[in-house]
Amino acid sequence: MARRHRPRKRFGQNFLHDPGVIERIVRHIAPRPGQHLVEIGPGQGALTAPLLAGAGELDVVELDRDLIPGLRGLGTGLHIHQADALRFDFRHLQRTPDDRLRIVGNLPYNISTPLLFHLIEQIDCIADMHFMLQREVVERLAAGPGSKRYGRLGVMVQYHCAVEKLFVVGPGAFRPPPQVESAVVRLVPHTRPPVRVRDYTAFARLVNHCFAQRRKTLRRVLKGVLDEQDIRQAGIDPALRPENLSLAQFAALSERLPE
Ligand code: SAM
Repeated sequence: MARRHRPRKRFGQNFLHDPGVIERIVRHIAPRPGQHLVEIGPGQGALTAPLLAGAGELDVVELDRDLIPGLRGLGTGLHIHQADALRFDFRHLQRTPDDRLRIVGNLPYNISTPLLFHLIEQIDCIADMHFMLQREVVERLAAGPGSKRYGRLGVMVQYHCAVEKLFVVGPGAFRPPPQVESAVVRLVPHTRPPVRVRDYTAFARLVNHCFAQRRKTLRRVLKGVLDEQDIRQAGIDPALRPENLSLAQFAALSERLPE
């Protein structure tokens, strides 16, 4: 008889067991034959089985070796990659250069922020993403200027994707139940970035630098980087704080950086 898997905290294992929630997530994803779906952290297969049924084929990336034998039994068309999603090259999965991946997962909460940054680095191979995350992280993804949840994660993801918060899920839908509420989010890459950025690396560095001191005025945060006149020439009041700047204003500031 198969040994019962004991959920591992270090792998962020909170397995979905509520059929209503599973059905709702899969309905929002709406997998279809011919689409290239990729699941991160399939675990014991709660989402994997219905996704495979919808798409006919599915790539999964799972770190925990002990879960791999259970996944093998789910049927043909399942391509299992025992790997760390944080280091995984998703572009490698593309079947043709035009192939775009639909990435989904009930993500391990302990790595969700670095994983989102890892994925936006590979955004050119992604059609869309549907993730279960901590509710707070979904709020950070969707937050706008002035909100206490607004920060680097939201600005950088919103530069790349339209963010749609789908629904909230309570702890009881998981085994073991997490200590926080969760939510499902849809991220759809923009066909064209919503703002013009000449040097993406400089823009990303600027956003990072600003949010390291989000409550200071721009005049102070940008000392030695941009002077007051540059900030004004970007159309921005130097007395504002990073937490009050829109994506367009970060882009405008980054345009003033020396080449
Ligand atoms: N999808 C399953 C479900 O909904 O029941 C499991 C979700 S559980 C929250 C997260 C899953 O991600 C676990 O199976 C865990 O082993 C896996 N995982 C954790 N860290 C990972 C990593 N770095 N790369 C790939 N999978 C990882």
